[in-house]
Amino acid sequence: MENIQMLIDGEWVGSEQEQWIDVLNPATGELITQIVRGNEKHADRAVEAARKALKSKEWKSYKPFQRGQFLQETARYIRENAQRLAELESTDIGKPSAQAKGDIEAAARYFEFYAGLADKVFGDSIPIEEDLLNVTVIEPIGVTLHIVPWNYPIQITARSVAAAIATGNVVIVKSSEDTPLTTNFLAKWFHEKLPQGVFQHLTGYGAEIGSALTSHTGVNQITFTGSVPTGIAVMKSAANNVVPVTLELGGKSPNVVFKDADLERAVPVIVNSIVQNAGQTCSAGSRLLVEETIADELLEKLVEKFKTLKVGPPANNADVGPIINEKQYKRILEILGSVDDQAKILVGGEAVQVEGYENGFYISPTIIEASDHDNSFVQEEIFGPVLSVVRFSDVEEAIELANATEYGLVAGVWSKDIDVAHYVASRIDSGQVFVNSYGAAGGVQMPFGGYKKSGIGREKSHLAVQNYIQIKNIAIQVQL
Ligand code: NDP
Repeated sequence: MENIQMLIDGEWVGSEQEQWIDVLNPATGELITQIVRGNEKHADRAVEAARKALKSKEWKSYKPFQRGQFLQETARYIRENAQRLAELESTDIGKPSAQAKGDIEAAARYFEFYAGLADKVFGDSIPIEEDLLNVTVIEPIGVTLHIVPWNYPIQITARSVAAAIATGNVVIVKSSEDTPLTTNFLAKWFHEKLPQGVFQHLTGYGAEIGSALTSHTGVNQITFTGSVPTGIAVMKSAANNVVPVTLELGGKSPNVVFKDADLERAVPVIVNSIVQNAGQTCSAGSRLLVEETIADELLEKLVEKFKTLKVGPPANNADVGPIINEKQYKRILEILGSVDDQAKILVGGEAVQVEGYENGFYISPTIIEASDHDNSFVQEEIFGPVLSVVRFSDVEEAIELANATEYGLVAGVWSKDIDVAHYVASRIDSGQVFVNSYGAAGGVQMPFGGYKKSGIGREKSHLAVQNYIQIKNIAIQVQL
């Protein structure tokens, strides 16, 4: 595959100093392509171009309904190219083809959803007194920066970019250095269809070009998805320039299973919630809290199911793909290697060698039962196919444990008793709660975001447009 260039100010920009970064296929360890190691100068140039595009007549003259039409066309374009995009996403991340196809459809849905909203974001008229016409006017916030991680690149790009364009902003996307392929594909489309500088795509290391962008005085808003420490660094940079951030920082989301739950229904959902994308999902169901009286029965079923899961590359039609890179792979193995007498591995817990793919980064789906909830396996985000289990004895303890981490992104509550289910759901500190289901990150229409250290702000749904607008109050005093 040819090297990937950045899209800056309507031009494809390669590396003048031959500073390229290798992009590897995590399923095989082979080189896929190279990206430009973007630097501060690239960041400056992109922000300057974005500011120019924001003020340009060409972009300003796009009416809201025309922005909607463009987003609708983008959804269509994504669907027409779904096969190719799924191949790229699957190659870049190593995720099973069916999951990659689901991601492409979700990306199309984001563009479609915000297409519909583009001409339905409007202000109010506020009655104050006779002869004073007071109205609020909605304006774009300006230059929006989207820092995208490697686990769901096309979905995460689509969810914030679509909302930002719908509301008339200009967009700079910085891809993760591990996964630039699908954003590069979309960049070609935006390059062809949008005025120069409205959409730009930058690549390179987060600590270099990423940090140059987040601290840039010309950026008006930052949407970041990734780890808590990097999110804090991004927020500090934003604070220096007094610009708002939307942060989505992962979690340790629980499935809480009560004794009357329908286990046949719960088991496949619990399994999928942790093995999907090899557990590298911000909203993964990575904690299982189970009522003592049914714990043995549920764990037996889960262990049985985990044993049947096939680990391997997309080419083998596996259930569980590779870990994204060597750093994350070694990190997870180190965590698994630190199991002591406070925790017990019930299944998995080791590296897997897949024949013909010896350089890929595979880990077996794992269940660890911990003796208490303070255990680091239960508290920390592992970001791999690792389910951490703790037992509880009653409803109040279940709620206490569900809330006893620094995160609060998603939760699943499993009970046939509507009183129990609703009582628990309303007391869990979490941005989304599913009852008798678990939709990792839910649908496009559902507000998504974190309580506590899982983040700030809401993405998805009609609410996300609020991240990309400013409200101006205009008061007109009438006198004849
Ligand atoms: P990071 O938070 O470091 O990276 C996420 C994104 O931020 C990437 O695009 C990265 O770029 C970029 N970035 C990194 N440093 C900076 C910076 N100083 N300024 C601006 N942007 C920056 O996560 P990692 O990839 O290192 O993964 C570590 C852990 O983070 C995982 O184990 C997981 O727990 C969590 N994580 C959570 C995600 C979620 O969906 N909530 C997604 C990914 C990770 P680049 O990759 O080029 O460095």
